Amino acid sequence: MMPVFTEHFGNASSIHWFGQYAKALIDDARQQVAKLINAEVSEIVFVSGGTEADNLAIRGIAESLRSKGRQGRHIITSKIEHHAVLHTCGDLEKQGYEVTWLPVSVDGLVDPDDVVKAIRPDTILISIMHANNEIGTIQPIAEIGAIADKADIYFHSDGVQAMGKIPVDVRQLKVDLYSMSGHKIHGPKGVGALFVKKGTPLKPTMTGGGHERNRRSGTENVAGIVGFGVAARLAREGLNSEMNRVRELRDQLEAGLKSKIEAIHVNAENAPRLPNTSNIMVDCAEGEGLVIALDLNGIAVSTGSACSSGSLEPSHVLTAIGRTPDENHGSLRFSLSSMTTEEDVNCVLEAMPGIVERLRELSPHYKR
Ligand code: PLP
Repeated sequence: MMPVFTEHFGNASSIHWFGQYAKALIDDARQQVAKLINAEVSEIVFVSGGTEADNLAIRGIAESLRSKGRQGRHIITSKIEHHAVLHTCGDLEKQGYEVTWLPVSVDGLVDPDDVVKAIRPDTILISIMHANNEIGTIQPIAEIGAIADKADIYFHSDGVQAMGKIPVDVRQLKVDLYSMSGHKIHGPKGVGALFVKKGTPLKPTMTGGGHERNRRSGTENVAGIVGFGVAARLAREGLNSEMNRVRELRDQLEAGLKSKIEAIHVNAENAPRLPNTSNIMVDCAEGEGLVIALDLNGIAVSTGSACSSGSLEPSHVLTAIGRTPDENHGSLRFSLSSMTTEEDVNCVLEAMPGIVERLRELSPHYKR
């Protein structure tokens, strides 16, 4: 990214060589992002991040079909989507669309049979995330994709948490639209992409100069896209070896915490899960207190989703898997990455028991 900031100032839309050099850099990054999910380069639309990708997918389909006179106004999604999907579908609901919010099991899984039952003649879109950002549950996307394909309904999946952490093949998953974000794979923030299967109608949410094959207007963020491209390549190259290592560390962390601290549980433990996510529920310890005490020990964790931390609203994901408000407030999310080491895990295992002990002493509910 540094040469783009300091030397290659071209605008990718310009005909002169400065511009064409920037365009070549973007083309190269597009190829890397396409390769990560087995897409064609022409099917990758660069946007400002996962939130915009979700908005473009959902609003783009809804508005495109409406402008073509299709009567359908029904959308199917789940209760555990990221707010970028939840609030977008909620907004469409206010505009007159009907939304079915599918429940999930205690392990956070959508049942494909529920998708089948929810389909109506006027259903225009199914949007189910690939992997959940709080508990890491991986949804049966290929099964749901086959259902959507058979019913001839457009299928969007928010893949922001899944891409680069598990193998993703958009052909095999049968998705028409797939959202991605750079910063979830160590790329820069403020850049992402939407996979749009060839032939999928999509009304742009951003109109203007017709960039990105008329899918998303606005001068491209060349440095961000270049960084995202490199991150996508590194993620693909290290996918199996790195993620196996991360899964082992995650398992070590969970086993260690369970052996050192009584009355803790791993949320969605038995579901297919991302290798790097661990959501731990600590009985009779207040989540915000845990976050602050761990932070003082140099350990950064979150309660609920990062976007809503800072508020004491219970997590909608933990509520959907049946956690009570108290259980919800005692839940913590650890996110590991290819940069996490065994030393990091040991640091948590050393710090956490004492912290939990102290917080439990303050709890009126804790019985020894
Ligand atoms: N979707 C999921 C599942 C996410 O985890 C996030 C970010 O945390 C987003 C969408 C939003 O992505 P961005 O922060 O790039 O807008």
